[in-house]
Amino acid sequence: MDIRQCRRCLLYETADKAAYESVQNYIASIPEAERADESVYRSRLSVCKECDMLISGMCRKCGCYVEVRAFVAGSDCPGGRW
Ligand code: SF4
Repeated sequence: MDIRQCRRCLLYETADKAAYESVQNYIASIPEAERADESVYRSRLSVCKECDMLISGMCRKCGCYVEVRAFVAGSDCPGGRW
C-alpha cells in the first residue's frame, strides 16, 4: 500500500509511524490553554474522516495534518466544514 495515498485516513491509521510520532510530539507541546476540548477535537476529526480532501492525515486544502489543526481551539476548517 502506498501510505501517501490513503484516502480519508488519519495519520494514526497509516503506516507512517515516524510522521505520526512527530505529530504527536508537536501536539504535546501545544499549551493547554490553546487546546480544543476533547469532544470538539473528536468531532472535528470525524468530519475530516468523511472529507475527500483528507489524504493520509493531511488536508489537501491547507497542507496541514488535521490531527494538529483540529487540536488547536481557535483553528477552523479551510473548507468551512467545522
Ligand atoms: S477541508 Fe476541512 S474537513 Fe476536509 S480534511 Fe481539510 S480540515 Fe478536514
